[in-house]
Amino acid sequence: MLQYNDLILAFQELKLHDKLVIAHASLRAFGEVAGGADAMVTALMYTTGGIIMPTHTYKTMVTPVSGPANNAVNYARAQQWNRLAEPFHPAMPADVMMGVVPENLRQRPQAKRSIHPILSFAGVNAAKIIQAQTLDNPFGPIMEVANADGWLLLLGVDHTANTSIHLAEKLAKRKQFTRWALTEKGTVTCNGFPGCSAGFEALEQALRPHTLARQVGNATIKALPVRTVIVTVMEAIKKNPLALLCERADCERCAAVREGLKS
Ligand SMILES: [Zn+2]
Repeated sequence: MLQYNDLILAFQELKLHDKLVIAHASLRAFGEVAGGADAMVTALMYTTGGIIMPTHTYKTMVTPVSGPANNAVNYARAQQWNRLAEPFHPAMPADVMMGVVPENLRQRPQAKRSIHPILSFAGVNAAKIIQAQTLDNPFGPIMEVANADGWLLLLGVDHTANTSIHLAEKLAKRKQFTRWALTEKGTVTCNGFPGCSAGFEALEQALRPHTLARQVGNATIKALPVRTVIVTVMEAIKKNPLALLCERADCERCAAVREGLKS
C-alpha cells in the first residue's frame, strides 16, 4: 500500500514547490493509497506552489429547442434530458467523472472555486488564477497558469484528461461549441465549450522529451510545463488542422470540427 510519504517523496522530485500547477488525477490508478484522496491532495498542496483542478459539473447542462447549426447537438433528442438537469450552485460537487481527488480539493476550507456552471475549477493558493475564468473564457485559469510558467501534472491519467489541450485548441482557432446550463438565475449560454478529448493521447510522443515521468505505485505520474503543451498543440494543429481529433465514427464533436473546416 502506498503511504503519504511515498507521495510526498515522488512529488518533491518534480521540484514544483514554487510552481503553480494544474493537476488531473485518477486515485484508482495508483492502487491502494493510505488516506486515499485526502492524502493525495495534502501531498499535492505540500509540494506545489499552488494547485488547481477541474471540478466540472455536467448535470447542470440543458439544451434549448433550437440553437446554432453544426454544434454537435441533436436539439430534438436532447430535450428528454432537460428535466434531469440541476441548477449550478457554488457547493455543487464535482461530477463523478472528474474523480474523487478534485472533489477533495474543492472541499478544503482554504480552496476557492470559480463559478462557471459547467466548467468550474477549484484551487488552493491560486485565488487569482481561479478568478480569471468567465462564462465566455472558461479556460482563462489555464492561461494564467501558463503565463506564470506553471506546470501540468497527470497523475495516473493520460492526455485525454489534459484540459490544457482544449485551451490550445481554442488558441489555434479550432471550432468551439455552445452549451447551456441551468443556474439559480435561469439558463445561461456558455460559449467556448471545448471539443472531444478522446484523440489527445496522440500528442504523447511529441511531448515526451519535455515530460518528467515517475512510477508511483501502479501509476505513472507525468509533469510538464503548460506553455510547452500549448505551443506543441498549436504547432500540431497548424501543421494538420485535423490533428488530435478522434477516430470514432459516431463522435459528434470531432465530426463538427471536420465539417467546419470544409466551409
Ligand atoms: Zn471525438
